[in-house]
Amino acid sequence: MIKKAGILALVVCLFLVLLSPVLVRAQSGLTILDSSAQAEFPSRLSFNLAAQSDVNITDIRLGYTVDRVSFAQVTSEVYIEFAPATTVDVDWTWDMRKTGGLPPGSGVDYWWAVENANGDKVETTPVQVQFDDNRYSWRSLTEGEVTIYWYEGNDSFAEEIILSAQQALARLAEDTGAYLKKPVKLYIYANAQDLQGAMIYPQEWTGGVAFTRYGTIAIGIALDNLYWGKRAVAHELTHLVIHQMTLNPYGDLPTWLDEGLAMYAAGALGPEFRAYLNKAIAEKSLISVRSLSSPFSAYAKQSILSYAQSYSLVDFLISNYGQAKMLELLNTFKQGNTYDDALDKVYGFDMDGLDTLWQDYVTMSAQSIEGKGMHPALVGASY
Ligand SMILES: [Zn+2]
Repeated sequence: MIKKAGILALVVCLFLVLLSPVLVRAQSGLTILDSSAQAEFPSRLSFNLAAQSDVNITDIRLGYTVDRVSFAQVTSEVYIEFAPATTVDVDWTWDMRKTGGLPPGSGVDYWWAVENANGDKVETTPVQVQFDDNRYSWRSLTEGEVTIYWYEGNDSFAEEIILSAQQALARLAEDTGAYLKKPVKLYIYANAQDLQGAMIYPQEWTGGVAFTRYGTIAIGIALDNLYWGKRAVAHELTHLVIHQMTLNPYGDLPTWLDEGLAMYAAGALGPEFRAYLNKAIAEKSLISVRSLSSPFSAYAKQSILSYAQSYSLVDFLISNYGQAKMLELLNTFKQGNTYDDALDKVYGFDMDGLDTLWQDYVTMSAQSIEGKGMHPALVGASY
């Protein structure tokens, strides 16, 4: 793997050298001498340009686009401040602490437009710079549409993760019909602390993040925490699949569906979630489906219950109405339907109807096994 990665790096370097927009010459002698970009992950991306001309260079602009899913091509243009001269050497730094960061491995295409006092112009060919997390020596492993990048642990550590990712994808396809349409990247940091160092504004609880528009997951998995890690990978990977399946410019998914599918794909509900759900069923303090359609509460207890209910809602829909209906629901959301309309079209009930049916289902199931202490909707892993 190391050898392969080394060769790949060399190929990428050659590629960059070949594409490097140096020595672009206009008729009047306006010449680009050098152009480069340097990543300082996760906070800075610096661009440098050297140019020369027979008369003063008067205008320099940097253009760039970030390689991610969007419905309109977003191009940024930066006017560089400098003193007009015949030879110039300028740089500009994209400070991500001001704009928000990019995930590791993001591609940024950039080019320069230079003009001199005669009105001669040169525009360089766009070149892509990879915003890589160069603080670590990454190795990589690809299987199907999934590539894993990791730097701690041996090959079998990565093989185990990629195998369980493939299994999670297979289960997800079987239960929901959803599958990866485009390649995704998984960056496995050695622990939560390393992962937090990869983010501009890390939140304390962050163990894994899915950057859905980039098709990238960043996650911290310690070697002795592989069980959690595999579940977390399945969870975040599902977010990428569901995003690819339902991508549309009109609207998003209800949170309970997105999180519920991710929880469901990760396997049976954990005991902590199960306890919160059982308690809320017993105390009749369940959160409404309508509330669960918005982002979840930041309060830990409400948040745990929100995830547990989301799992149970998805389990209810898949167990009672099957895979084909779930796929139909995802496709209906892709067409840009509202939450109520999408449910109504596919299942014949809206969010309130789902609420009633699901609450009856979990309450009845709870009563039927009263005394046994466990809720069937929660005990049963569906595979
Ligand atoms: Zn999630």
